[in-house]
Amino acid sequence: MSEPTSCCRVRGGYCERCDVLVGLEGLHVIGVDRDDGGWLVVEVESEPTPMGCPACGVVAHSHGRVLVRLVDAPAMGRPVRIFWRKRRWVCPDPGCPVGTFVEQDDRIAAPRSSLTTRACRWAIEQIRREHASVNGIRRQLGTGWRTVWDSIRPLLQAMDADPARFEGVTILGVDEHVWHHVSTKPFEAGGRGPKELTGMVDLTRDAHGRNRARLLDLVPGRSGQELVKSFV
Ligand SMILES: [Zn+2]
Ligand SMILES: [Zn+2]
Repeated sequence: MSEPTSCCRVRGGYCERCDVLVGLEGLHVIGVDRDDGGWLVVEVESEPTPMGCPACGVVAHSHGRVLVRLVDAPAMGRPVRIFWRKRRWVCPDPGCPVGTFVEQDDRIAAPRSSLTTRACRWAIEQIRREHASVNGIRRQLGTGWRTVWDSIRPLLQAMDADPARFEGVTILGVDEHVWHHVSTKPFEAGGRGPKELTGMVDLTRDAHGRNRARLLDLVPGRSGQELVKSFV
């Protein structure tokens, strides 16, 4: 019988095919498993390389690992967890203020975020383009409402403060929206927020004549004045 040309037969090295499949830049897949709930658990690490202390530049010594669990975007019909075995380092200089430090890569996840950066991007795209609710997103990610909201909120605030999102908009769609099932809880507590909202959608067509259909903003209320206020 011929040898199966299976993945992950490499011993003592990383598997290029698994790395491509998972697609986390700078990290290698070292294990894949399914947890009790059927979710996909992918264990990753960075390649060992010499590390300099961020404060004094002295070559740091390896100081064990820290396991960080992250919620990733769903894949192949399942919620995904990334277990990142982060490298920890210690600066050998006794006078250095840093002491120990842990590897960090914002391309993978922002510091203290429970979601990977791409899970945050995925969630925001779901809201902007697919009319998803935070509740729908948290169901697909297999996590809590608060976990999703706390991770995407700083990104949404940064996007809201960036006027560049209105650049190139030549056709603006305005959509008044009334929630019929309004919970008494405020939005931050898992409620649906204001009863009446005015949405602004970028209806500009791209070079191929396709409607961009990006949600640009949602403002409370449903009068023309609310719309004008959002542009001043
Ligand atoms: Zn493989
Ligand atoms: Zn140092």
